[in-house]
Parts: sequence; C-alpha cells; structure tokens
Amino acid sequence: MTEKFEAVVIGGGPGGYVCAIRLAQLGFKTACVESRGSLGGTCLNVGCIPSKSLLNLSDEFHKVKNLSKKGIEVGDVKLNLEKMMKSKDKAVTVLTKGVEFLFKKNKVSYFKGTASFKSKNEILVKDSNNDEKIINANKIVIATGSAPLSLPGIKFDETTILSSTGALKIDHVPKKMIVVGGGYIGLEMGSVWSRLGSEVHVIEFLENITPGMDTEISKEFMKILKKQGIQFHMQHKVKQIVKNNSGATVTTVDKEGKEIDFDCNVVLISVGRKPNTEGLNLKAAGVQLDEKMRIKTDKNFRTNLDNIFAIGDVIKGPMLAHKAEDEGIAVAENIAGQSGHVNYDTIPGVVYTTPEVASIGKTEEQLKEMKIDYKIGKFSFMANSRAKAIDDAEGFVKILADAKTDKVLGAHLIGPHAGELVAEIGVAMEFGASSEDLARTCHAHPTFSEAIKEAALSVEKRAIHS
Ligand SMILES: Cc1cc2nc3c(=O)[nH]c(=O)nc-3n(C[C@H](O)[C@H](O)[C@H](O)COP(=O)(O)OP(=O)(O)OC[C@H]3O[C@@H](n4cnc5c(N)ncnc54)[C@H](O)[C@@H]3O)c2cc1C
Repeated sequence: MTEKFEAVVIGGGPGGYVCAIRLAQLGFKTACVESRGSLGGTCLNVGCIPSKSLLNLSDEFHKVKNLSKKGIEVGDVKLNLEKMMKSKDKAVTVLTKGVEFLFKKNKVSYFKGTASFKSKNEILVKDSNNDEKIINANKIVIATGSAPLSLPGIKFDETTILSSTGALKIDHVPKKMIVVGGGYIGLEMGSVWSRLGSEVHVIEFLENITPGMDTEISKEFMKILKKQGIQFHMQHKVKQIVKNNSGATVTTVDKEGKEIDFDCNVVLISVGRKPNTEGLNLKAAGVQLDEKMRIKTDKNFRTNLDNIFAIGDVIKGPMLAHKAEDEGIAVAENIAGQSGHVNYDTIPGVVYTTPEVASIGKTEEQLKEMKIDYKIGKFSFMANSRAKAIDDAEGFVKILADAKTDKVLGAHLIGPHAGELVAEIGVAMEFGASSEDLARTCHAHPTFSEAIKEAALSVEKRAIHS
C-alpha cells in the first residue's frame, strides 16, 4: 500500500524533526521517517543531551568533592555510576518523548523504519520486523545526519575501543582512558571520565586542540585542561591499536618519527563523523554526492533534483545541532515559497567543558588570511566581579572588530557560562553591531556578561576594570 504525503523528511534528528514540524506549520501534509526507534537523532539520543547530562553530573561530583576547600563540609562523597547513568538516560527519554508529542501536536506522521529511495518521489520504509511500506511524496528532505568515524582498519567494539556512543555508557570508571582526537567531543568525554576518576590522555595529530578554533583560545583551553589533570600528546599519529587482556595498547608515532606505546583500559576514538548516505539507495533517485560523500546541495538546500533537499550533518558545514535546526526551518520555508536563509557567519560553537569555550564569527587566523584589518578587545574573567565572587574566574573574552568600521567580526570566549554569553554577540552580529554598540549597552552588575561589555570597551583601549 502506498501512502501519499506532500512532504517527507528522512531522519528525525534536530534537522529532520524541526523541518517536519515547520513544514506541518506551513500547511504541508508531512511525514518523518526515523530508523533508530526514537526521535531526536544523534543529538538527543547519543550526542548533545546525554553528553551534557554527564558533563553536568560529573562537574557536580567534582565540585562537591572539593567544597570543603570553601568551608562546606559534606562528608564522604561517593560516586554511584549506575544512578548517574540512569539520570542521564531519563533526560534522554523525556526529551525524545517530547519530540513525539510535538509531532502529534503538529500532525506530523511518524514512520518508524529505515528509508531508502525507490524513485525520486517514492520512499521505501522497512521496519524492524522487515515489513515494508511505500511512501509517495512531492517534496523530500534528507536529514539522515552522521555517524562516528573510526581510524582505518580499527573497528569500534564499544567495550574497549569506543566511539562517542560507547563513551556515554561505560559501566565502570576506567583506570586509564586514551582519547584519540582533540576535538570538542573527545575533550568533553575526556573531561567527564577524568572528573569521575580516570587517568585521561589525549592523543592529537595536530599542534593544537579543537582545530579551527581561535588559536589563542585553543592554547588557553589546553593549559586549563592540563591543570585539571588531562595529559596531552600532541603531533602524535596513531599507528595501531591492539587489544589485550586489560584493555589495549595504542601505538603512536611522534613528530620525530619515534614509536610510543600507550597502555590503557579503554580507547575513545573521536576523530570525526561521516555523513549517513549509505543505505539510502540514492542512485534510485539520482541524488549526487560531493567529494566528501556528503549530499551536494545549492544555497537553498536543493540537491541536483528539483524536489529533493538535504540539511544538517549530511551536507557541508559544521556538524552542529543548531545548524541542522536552522537549516530545517530554512528549507521548509523555501519549499513553501518563502525565503528561508541561514547566516553561516553567526553560528556559535560551544565546548561544554569547565570552563566552557564558545566562539562565533571569524577567528584571528581567518581575518589574517582574508587580509581584513581588525582590532582586538580582551577582558579577563579575573577582573570580573561575579566570576571572582564565586571563585570561577578562569579565562577571558576576546572580541574582534573591523579596524575601519568597528563592526564585530567575531568573538571567542573561554570562561564561566561562555556558551550562554556568546548568544549576546550572536544577536549583535545579526544586527551588524559595532564593538561600541556592545560597549554602550548597559549590562547588569554583577554578571559574567559584564566581561563582554569590558572586552568591547577594550577594543578602543578604554576598559574600566583592567
Ligand atoms: C557525543 C556528541 C556530542 C555532541 N554535542 C553537541 C553539542 O553539544 N551541540 C551541538 O550543536 N552538536 C553536538 N553534537 C552534534 C549533533 O549531535 C549533530 O550535529 C546533530 O545531531 C545533527 O543533526 P541532524 O539532524 O543533521 O542528524 P542526526 O542527529 O544524526 O539525525 C539523523 C537521524 O536520521 C536517522 N537516519 C539515518 N539514516 C536513516 C534512514 N535511512 N532512514 C531513516 N532514518 C535514518 C538516524 O537514525 C538519526 O536519528 C554532538 C554529537 C555527538 C556525537
């Protein structure tokens, strides 16, 4: 039996489910097909949400253990990992069920099963019992996201050799963990297990962690993480990983060509993610891929076929949930004949470690490469009264503004609540604000956000508190 819809979205992650809801709001008879058995995609099930839950819980554990230094005696603090994992799982369940509720509310039909193309208007859905259905759709949006990438020849077993998914559900605190890759996922998960008691070593091929981040911030970030006990082995290339009785031996080659063995109990490989395009039978529709095996789209998210679109991790651009969501809304509006648009210059990136790291817009390195003259305003949280009051004063705010026009071109923050603070800069940049606009905006005292005002003042060397 064939069911007919005006629009079908493949994938129920933050790109897909948001797109399906927006399409339904715009009056389309919409369906969404999701294969994992629950909505919310990588983000809600095995990404943003469980990782933030564990980051928060492990941070609380670490802080409570150290409260006596601040005059609060709480006695013997013990970890109950099983309960902690249950608390994380509860957050996931509540949120994924919440998306199901939103589908019902917006009358989006939800198909549980794996979708593949039969033709440019027909999708075959196979459920877990291998029962098949065909859905016919005028417009199709591919939002199948991405999956963890391993190193050549190394397979995840999710007990010793872990992907991020495995690292979210280890049932004991490993004595020693090797994290291969110094990107944000590896550092977040490394922080979780380090706070819970593991000895964590990060092995990174490049000179700096978090590639693409403003180098000054990235260096400060590594300094802070080192102080927290995470050990870094930079410019090391992993040659092989051999499992043994107690875990594994990771063999690396350093920049001088020397081979080094690292014994550990678990290895987390977080070297990137690959787009989910296999299994979609894209050939049946004739959808083209780009050189990185992502779905090729134009600026309106249209593939080489008129009625098929793609968004989120499966297309080019940063692999971030909010980027996928914004693309989901934009493509739905484009399908409805409106002018959906995503401003890629103002997509924030946040690392939810302690302290948090956040960035938006251009880095100093990018501005140099683009030969754009810029001014820098910087302000340290050491001079921010709120941060000092609560003894959480590591890091700084850095604002980059155009040397001639003073327009804010980028901002990079490391410090308390940086992930929340960066939103103010996002709004400012959307409105084409200058650093003076930020500097002349009244900020409540005492707040962390005063560090933004002071950094903006510092662009013209007139910060008050430094
Ligand atoms: C550990 C971790 C932490 C992260 N933390 C953050 C964070 O803090 N902030 C942030 O912005 N991003 C974070 N991300 C990245 C974020 O999860 C992704 O960028 C985001 O989920 C991408 O959304 P999407 O909708 O494009 O794809 P996905 O969320 O991957 O969803 C795609 C869905 O499509 C389904 N699917 C695939 N193929 C088919 C098919 N053939 N038929 C039916 N369904 C199919 C998949 O099962 C999946 O549920 C994190 C990722 C990880 C792994």
